[in-house]
Amino acid sequence: MAGIYIHIPFCRKLCSYCDFYHLIAVADNQAFIDALLIEAAVRKEYIGNETVSTIYIGGGTPSVLSVSDIKEYLVN
Ligand code: SF4
Repeated sequence: MAGIYIHIPFCRKLCSYCDFYHLIAVADNQAFIDALLIEAAVRKEYIGNETVSTIYIGGGTPSVLSVSDIKEYLVN
């Protein structure tokens, strides 16, 4: 059984106390989505034949991405 964690580092504001890796959100996230897709392809073999039972999307503030951005990533 395997789980996948996807870290979305963007936030609408930067909180000084936060220890998570975070950046201020940008309007165009396409370069980030493209990089996520490349990383997923590179790491695909790592999971092998394991069944992925959970996908957790954390951050940051994952809701700064559009539904279409997240859908593009999950479908691909
Ligand atoms: S992850 Fe949450 S606590 Fe951390 S900087 Fe972003 S909004 Fe603030």
